[in-house]
Amino acid sequence: MADQYINDVVLFNGLDKRNKANFIIKRLTEKGLNPKLQSFSSCFGEGKNIYVEYGNNYENTTIISAHYDGESFFDNSGGVIALLNVSKEILVNEFSSTSLVLLFTDQEETYQQGAANFLRDNCKYYFTKNINIDGFGIGDELYKVSELVKNSNSEIDLFLCDSDEFLKFGIPSTTYFSAFSNDYLKSNRNNNIYSVFVKYHSESFYFKKYSPFNTKSLFQKLNWEINKSSKHE
Ligand SMILES: [Zn+2]
Repeated sequence: MADQYINDVVLFNGLDKRNKANFIIKRLTEKGLNPKLQSFSSCFGEGKNIYVEYGNNYENTTIISAHYDGESFFDNSGGVIALLNVSKEILVNEFSSTSLVLLFTDQEETYQQGAANFLRDNCKYYFTKNINIDGFGIGDELYKVSELVKNSNSEIDLFLCDSDEFLKFGIPSTTYFSAFSNDYLKSNRNNNIYSVFVKYHSESFYFKKYSPFNTKSLFQKLNWEINKSSKHE
């Protein structure tokens, strides 16, 4: 499973943006899902978001996102492949109270224009929560940074990602990311990084060492976040 994950990340990362979009659409379609395309233009040019909708309870929808316009394994090819791997399980689940949107955003690297355009054009939804995956595939631990932590921290500029755009629209957002070992964070206490990273769960995968990537574990965490949001905490 780990080898397949790494192969996919390497393959995906080597594609140009148009073919990255095609890759995502193809994978989702192969899983029996029905991906849709949102074309938009911003001052940074033409962009394409890819998304899958599930359920029609528009007033209570969780949106799960990963941007695909980065150019490195970590940012965010690893996150895209991870989200693709759990997409079917996440969507086709026995949720009754929350609908779901799985969103692969373009133009995150240019002031989150992909997320901004998606939110502007999909006003039928009331998004109760965003779960964002960004910076994923390197490191031996999984972390999350929540909206509460971000808002209370003056170093918010450190965390430019799609979460910022969801927060701007008033949608609580949590970003999941891997990387940095706990030792690294401890050694960086002084520059305030440690205080905003909430260690959630230790994962036993490390990209460079080809350890197993645990799809099931990621699914369980996302599932937990979704259900938490559906109960309005
Ligand atoms: Zn990113």
